[in-house]
Amino acid sequence: MLRSLLSLFVQSLCPLCQRQTQELICTYCQQKIRGHHLSAWEIETSRDLPIFAWGKYEGHLKRAIAQIKYENKPELGILLGEWLGQSWLNTPQGKKIRRLTVVPIPLHQHKLKLRGFNQSTKIARGFCQVTGYTLNPHALIRVRNTEAMFGLNSQQRQENIHNAFRINKNFNSTVARSPILLLDDIYTTGSTIKEACQALTQNSLKVCGAAVIAIASFTNIHKENQKY
Ligand SMILES: [Zn+2]
Repeated sequence: MLRSLLSLFVQSLCPLCQRQTQELICTYCQQKIRGHHLSAWEIETSRDLPIFAWGKYEGHLKRAIAQIKYENKPELGILLGEWLGQSWLNTPQGKKIRRLTVVPIPLHQHKLKLRGFNQSTKIARGFCQVTGYTLNPHALIRVRNTEAMFGLNSQQRQENIHNAFRINKNFNSTVARSPILLLDDIYTTGSTIKEACQALTQNSLKVCGAAVIAIASFTNIHKENQKY
């Protein structure tokens, strides 16, 4: 009796389906999210930087990302970051590269205040817990409070995000000694990653790629095992 009463207290509702669960999200929804996982790690090859995406931005994965950002579920970001880290460790790069500095795409301070956390930093935290890489959430600063990218086309996105980032002069210069992996929640046209990358490389820092939870554009991506 006492045990069943206690189990009621530790159970909470799955944010995606409202079923009772003892986990962050129920097993059913975890399986649904994993259904959007890219079977082989895929790489965007049309850009300068390799992009590593855990899954496709659709269905339950899309809903899970929305829960993180708009329903105040930072712990879900950490969980997805752990999944991203586990997948990364199975890639040739993940097996090969021992030292990396992980730099999440920053939010503008006004948005950070409103949301209370940066989802990319939460994802990066989970990612670094699994991979053992160094997390540096303060390497970049978002100096412009850009409009929401939703609904903008590729060129509008590029203009919107132009010069939005600068390097944090105060951050520890040890970051320069290991290559940087940028980390974001969603990859759409690549304009955000490109701008963030430029802000770092202009300061002679080496960026080796970007890892994201979900990729929204599917043109020009090739399965990694076709490339290597
Ligand atoms: Zn569920």
